Amino acid sequence: MTSPAPNPGTLYVVATPIGNLGDMVPRAVETLQTVALIAAEDTRHSSRLLSHFDIKTPCIAYHDHSDEQRTEQLIARMHAGDSIALISDAGTPLVSDPGYRLVRSARQAGIQVVPVPGACAMIAALSAAGLPSDRFAFEGFLPAKQVARCTQLQSLAADPRTLIFYEAPHRILETLQDMAQVFGPEREVVMARELTKTFETIKGDKVADLATWVASDTNQQRGEIVLLVHGAPKPENEAMTPAQMHTMKVLLEELPVKQAASLGAKLTGLKKNFLYDWALQQGE
Ligand code: SAM
Repeated sequence: MTSPAPNPGTLYVVATPIGNLGDMVPRAVETLQTVALIAAEDTRHSSRLLSHFDIKTPCIAYHDHSDEQRTEQLIARMHAGDSIALISDAGTPLVSDPGYRLVRSARQAGIQVVPVPGACAMIAALSAAGLPSDRFAFEGFLPAKQVARCTQLQSLAADPRTLIFYEAPHRILETLQDMAQVFGPEREVVMARELTKTFETIKGDKVADLATWVASDTNQQRGEIVLLVHGAPKPENEAMTPAQMHTMKVLLEELPVKQAASLGAKLTGLKKNFLYDWALQQGE
């Protein structure tokens, strides 16, 4: 059966596997087989994938440092009716990968941009980490230099969302140690390594203990890694509802702080120590 022709003049943004070729989706194969041209981050790197799926479409190198002329050439070809597929070395283009300039220019030029979704390391890691996933922040790669890295971590220390980072294996240990320093040793971190590959490892622990484990096993300092950090706990103050505050205020009008905290804990379900501290702050 021959594949249907792609929509003319369209830019397809095609995800490719992050290690396991079995994760290549049929629509990605079909798109790459039928477009006029594939714009690849690294044509040599992608040749293995393309030959595995018997894709003979011509390939051209495209990355965000490609000169403007290259972007314009691709836009002109799409205007002329050729469809182009954008791929990166692995996973979803534009996610810590090239493509932003091309996609933006294409949309500005009125060209239809169609995603062909598939593997993405941060989403795969999040789906298996067991950390809150209702809200999360993808932070890409941290700075390589320690001072800049710690400054960046500091700016995220109070963020309540799950934080997701990509990290290079030769920096994993220092990064975990910096996280223990900045976020505190107890913060839960999940390390997702070599996802979809033979040595896939997903391990969660308090960040200081995870750093000790990684230090003691150099195999954990190899391969491709996603780090996921549990968001900062909410300050308990913010967790107090107006009704709970009202209850405490009424109790404090009638009772000494210690008794108000004790009775308040029974009435509100909040911790006695927290209510005691809160009550003292109200009197300050
Ligand atoms: N665009 C890709 C995606 O959709 O995930 C990410 C490209 S970025 C240049 C490469 C980084 O992604 C690696 O250094 C690593 O942090 C993460 N990564 C890629 N493949 C991975 C895998 N199989 N397991 C764990 N992390 C991976």
